[in-house]
Amino acid sequence: MEVYKEKYKIASFCNKYRSEGKSIGFVPTMGALHQGHLSLLIRANKENDIIISSIFVNPTQFNNSEDYLNYPRNIDDDLIKLQKIECDAVFIPTEEEIYPEPDNRNFDFGYLGQTMEGKYREGHFNGVAKVITKLFDIIQPNKAYFGEKDYQQLIIIKKLVKDFNYDIEIVPCSIIREPDGLAMSSRNLRLSENHRKIAPFIYKILRESKKIKNKLSVEDLKKWVYHRFEKMKEFKIEYFNIVDDENLKEINEWKDNDGQIGCIAVWLGNIRLIDNIKYN
Ligand code: AMP
Repeated sequence: MEVYKEKYKIASFCNKYRSEGKSIGFVPTMGALHQGHLSLLIRANKENDIIISSIFVNPTQFNNSEDYLNYPRNIDDDLIKLQKIECDAVFIPTEEEIYPEPDNRNFDFGYLGQTMEGKYREGHFNGVAKVITKLFDIIQPNKAYFGEKDYQQLIIIKKLVKDFNYDIEIVPCSIIREPDGLAMSSRNLRLSENHRKIAPFIYKILRESKKIKNKLSVEDLKKWVYHRFEKMKEFKIEYFNIVDDENLKEINEWKDNDGQIGCIAVWLGNIRLIDNIKYN
């Protein structure tokens, strides 16, 4: 596995294989890799000749400096994991390599960027778009893989690709969970022992909400979810929206065939966790 810190090096690695007609699959990450990340790479490996990952804790997408400073960083372990799954190359740039000058671009995703994560993490998707456009320009993959764990991000990346005419197929990948149901996330490493024990409550409630969905209106199901969290003093629910899975608009009534998804953000102590469930 090649490890590159400079963009011109990884770009020339990619160019070489592209000129040989090889397809390139790309998985951008912020490291502290877990099975969720690896599942994207394993899928990419099946669908492409060459697979590339990047590890970069992108400062522009953090709206909370404490979260940025404390974000888990385990580069040595990450490299071992990437090697095991036969990743061809990994790009580990410094901040200067990605942002040699301040990036003052402003991306407007309309409502998609204003709701849910966009509402509670100001500037987050602008930062995501800054780094993803730069990475796409350097790697120029045929396919890029994104987890449904960050569902809104996935929808925004799809829009970004359309808006800027990137010739890249965005491949959505299912959420990988711990055996107890907690969605895998690098931030889980930062949960206290007690909070880690109770964190599976999030998915438990999402699952239960799916079971009782047919008995309640959308509004009442939302209230039920909020109420369940309000009874658990350790959790602070930030939002729970039931939305159309393409335009992310909140829905008022259940529809049989259209995609509907419940998206949640919850604080456990000072760690913020997100998860979601598809309702059909
Ligand atoms: P991150 O390192 O958190 O920026 O995540 C990098 C990629 O991995 C994103 O596309 C995430 O959606 C995806 N990802 C993170 N956690 C999971 C998970 N539990 N299951 C599936 N994909 C995930």
